[in-house]
Amino acid sequence: MINKGAAIIKQGGLVAFPTETVYGLGADASNQQACLNIFKAKGRPSNNPLIVHVDSIKKARDLVLFNDDAIKLTEFWPGPLTMVLPKKAGAQIADCVTAGLATVAIRIPADKIAMELIKASGRPIAAPSANKSGRLSATTYQHVKESFGDEVFILKSDTKIAYGLESTIIDLSTSTPTILRYGFITPEAIKNVLGKEIAIASDLSEIKAPGMLHKHYAPKTKLRLNAVNLKTGEVGLNFASSELNTNGSMNLSKNGDLVEAAANLFDYLHQLDKFSLEHGIAIIAVAPIPDTGVGLAINDRLRRAAE
Ligand code: AMP
Ligand code: MG
Repeated sequence: MINKGAAIIKQGGLVAFPTETVYGLGADASNQQACLNIFKAKGRPSNNPLIVHVDSIKKARDLVLFNDDAIKLTEFWPGPLTMVLPKKAGAQIADCVTAGLATVAIRIPADKIAMELIKASGRPIAAPSANKSGRLSATTYQHVKESFGDEVFILKSDTKIAYGLESTIIDLSTSTPTILRYGFITPEAIKNVLGKEIAIASDLSEIKAPGMLHKHYAPKTKLRLNAVNLKTGEVGLNFASSELNTNGSMNLSKNGDLVEAAANLFDYLHQLDKFSLEHGIAIIAVAPIPDTGVGLAINDRLRRAAE
């Protein structure tokens, strides 16, 4: 299966594949037409650049310029941290991948299938999440299948996706390292490794990542956040000991474990969305999630989904 996927990548086709974060929809990052087809398949605006996935720091160095902070943060690689760095002169990255920016978002994924696909194809792989633009991210084979049907070849994981949330994105191309998207690697963890203060993009007036403030991750059913009780016509998405209980309600983590909650988030939203559409329910009420650690990333996704 990996070899078939690699052959498709080399021929300029699209392959959906699991990573430790969410499923990606990948193409050869050096092939402009192949990468344009990612935008087309997703219905993704062309001003929203893609993350490039490589299998080694050596390969990353062919594409971007590392600075001291970037070298320190390779401690998190392979893993769910994307670094935005200046594009190296002559780097083989199609223009549409960076949406014309002078920087590239890059990471090494910590998933066996993703790594094997990159290795076997011998190409850097540009891959956004494998969902239609603006919709819930895909964390299972079934989610990808529902979005793309037979349009793309899908590599299936035998195990559950490890984290279930997109990578943390940090911009290292400016004087102060700036988090552009919350993820599994927390600001605290990054600060500790860098040994200095970092910024969070929402604090800043200038928007660096096109598309980062857009409504995103949206189910078809409306979300009501920080719900403490359930109203009629709602179904509940609980956390810890919350009691938004009715037929169909789910709990992200009965033990109040934020890592478990993150891993379940998109799948449960997919399931509750489907349940609501089938049962004529208008609103998914979501219990409060603590705004600490991975909770920052969960709340970020929920806020955008509810917009
Ligand atoms: P997705 O792959 O769907 O999770 O989206 C990729 C994210 O990476 C988007 O939020 C992009 O805006 C961001 N991104 C990709 N390339 C860059 C870049 N060069 N500078 C800033 N953000 C980027
Ligand atoms: Mg996405």
